[in-house]
Amino acid sequence: MNEPENNVLLSTQIVIEEALRKLGYGEEMIELLKEPLRLLTVRIPVRMDDGSVKVFTGYRSQHNDAVGPTKGGVRFHPDVNVDEVKALSIWMSLKCGIADLPYGGGKGGIVCDPRSMSFRELERLSRGYVRAISQIVGPTKDIPAPDVMTNSQIMAWMMDEYSRIREFDSPGFITGKPLVLGGSHGRETATARGVTIMIHEALKVKGIPLHDARVVIQGFGNAGSFLAKFMHDAGAKVIGISDVNGALYNKEGLDIEYLLDRRDSFGTVSNLFKNTISNEELLELECDVLVPAAIENQITAKNATRLRTNIIVEAANGPTTLDATRILHDIGILLIPDVLASAGGVIVSYFEWVQNNQGYYWSEAEVDHKLKEMMIRGFKQVFEIHQSRGVNMRLAAYMAGVRKMAEAARYRGWI
Ligand code: GLU
Repeated sequence: MNEPENNVLLSTQIVIEEALRKLGYGEEMIELLKEPLRLLTVRIPVRMDDGSVKVFTGYRSQHNDAVGPTKGGVRFHPDVNVDEVKALSIWMSLKCGIADLPYGGGKGGIVCDPRSMSFRELERLSRGYVRAISQIVGPTKDIPAPDVMTNSQIMAWMMDEYSRIREFDSPGFITGKPLVLGGSHGRETATARGVTIMIHEALKVKGIPLHDARVVIQGFGNAGSFLAKFMHDAGAKVIGISDVNGALYNKEGLDIEYLLDRRDSFGTVSNLFKNTISNEELLELECDVLVPAAIENQITAKNATRLRTNIIVEAANGPTTLDATRILHDIGILLIPDVLASAGGVIVSYFEWVQNNQGYYWSEAEVDHKLKEMMIRGFKQVFEIHQSRGVNMRLAAYMAGVRKMAEAARYRGWI
């Protein structure tokens, strides 16, 4: 766990330091930006349906607010831990930097397994979390959103709880809300839309037409499932998908409509089939685009040389280790790193927050158009740094992501 290869925080800090040095910054800036400014740990007592009380641990990490309020999702997962939440908040800063949003990064998490909790238990946990962190969050301080295993219903409970505490309606406190509570058109599909746009750009670089592309997607949650649909609709062949239990493969292309129809709310589908392959085998399938859309540390120094893809687009946060990133660069696989590829979610969250603040709502076409513009601008920026400075795509993305924050900190007179 403490090896940099698998510790997401240590490997993030290594690249942050490298990026800042390349940009000409010294020790003080590195010291400031390699750790979050604030980390809150909370204990949340929740009355369970059977009458007992269970005490959950939660976190909120705020990486840096030099650019503006911090922003980022809340994850419900049994493996949530301090280092992960810290790293995720740093990645949010980088996403916001690349997309040029007026935010720094934040992230929250609760150690829990929502798959084994009832609807009402989840409501009590969500409300308890907001009460526990309410001092340090708010529409101009730190704005939460959905992440792994949280959704618009959970955002609605959290928004309601925050509004009760503050005694006024506060839709801008949180994003990813249902449409009727001030959510934005296009938010639910935003991460997958953003990844789709990145796949288009990467295929152009590699000279592969979309309709010939064979796509493999690891994970069938929010990002993976919508992405499978968008790829399928665009005429690409989705030949492999997976969930936590296993993976499905068909070299002629999977029946995506059927799978979407049958998936449960956590994205489980493989239990419907007899002939499954393992997640490890899925990653090594021959394809044009591989999209890790599940969890961290999936592509490592062990399997990187066995991959048979032209392009990797990271829809998940942190799916590729640092050593694997270097190997992929050396063997010529084009990597579109997470902090660029999965920025669609926070970009449309920003649109949602803007709409909440102005009380005026946009059409889906308007959201999609603006999202596309921002994603392509982010891609061009990162690709340009990658080419002109001769650095790998992850380092290029970190350089693009960190520079505005460093400059803002300098202007504020912090360094
Ligand atoms: N959880 C998403 C992410 O990791 C979205 C964050 C947001 O919308 O603020 O990018």
